[in-house]
Amino acid sequence: MSEAEDWGDNFYTCMVCEKTFRSPLFEIARTYERTIFFDGDQIPVVEPIESEGIGTYCSTECLNQDRDRLLTKENVRATFPGIGPIEVCSRCGKPVDMVQFHLSWTEEELNCQWGPFIDVLQPINVQSLAVVCQQCAPLSTTAIQEERSSSNLVDVVA
Ligand SMILES: [Zn+2]
Ligand SMILES: [Zn+2]
Repeated sequence: MSEAEDWGDNFYTCMVCEKTFRSPLFEIARTYERTIFFDGDQIPVVEPIESEGIGTYCSTECLNQDRDRLLTKENVRATFPGIGPIEVCSRCGKPVDMVQFHLSWTEEELNCQWGPFIDVLQPINVQSLAVVCQQCAPLSTTAIQEERSSSNLVDVVA
């Protein structure tokens, strides 16, 4: 029995070299997120609400080869933004208010543990590639709904 058969459906296929593998995973993801800043010395946190893997690779080499193609397809370029409070839109060059939910692209190295019921993905390395302003990419309806349901805000009709 080959390794791939042994794995069942529990493996990834590299989008560049078509190699099958299980871990680590090199991924480019598109995420709706915001940065939360705190008073004092507390380190800011990034809160994601909706994330989708759009590139799957077996290695940094394969990811490096495909990054520009993938981002061009997404109509952004790699500007390697920080976490805010204000960064530059990777599409139109206008400021992005990172405290508000916005669309961002990241590349990640993930340690994958395949379980019988649940797979665990543990980020080893995360690098921000691009962000866009709210004019270039308004929040999707699902993202807004999740934002509402995850916050304690209640719509009250007076
Ligand atoms: Zn590969
Ligand atoms: Zn923009």
